[in-house]
Amino acid sequence: MAETIFKKIITREIPADIVYEDDRCLAFRDVAPQAPTHVLLIPKKEIPSVEHLEEKDAELLGHMWIVINQLCRELGLAEAGYRVVVNCGKDGGQEVEHLHFHILGGRPLQWPPG
Ligand code: AMP
Repeated sequence: MAETIFKKIITREIPADIVYEDDRCLAFRDVAPQAPTHVLLIPKKEIPSVEHLEEKDAELLGHMWIVINQLCRELGLAEAGYRVVVNCGKDGGQEVEHLHFHILGGRPLQWPPG
């Protein structure tokens, strides 16, 4: 499996504006933000997409949702609200093949997405 840009962020081969890290996951600001706050949360484990999730990843995913909850409070998004997006595959618009949660907030977000 080719090393993705997100793997290089985990190993610090390339820089990122990191806002949270623990032993299982890492969050950093998106380089092309689509909202005033746009953070990506990724697992340190190399999981290419939702399509590749296994039962054994359930605890990791549960942990990541709790991190999202805490992070959104710290980022000042919790009161007004925010959106969490996971793109999967070609039609889902996924460009980087390392599972990631987009956390978007800081303005009213439109629905449905394009
Ligand atoms: P997706 O289209 O769901 O795969 O989203 C990939 C996201 O990664 C996009 O929003 C990109 O702007 C973002 N991105 C790509 N390279 C970097 C980078 N080096 N640092 C931060 N965000 C990045």
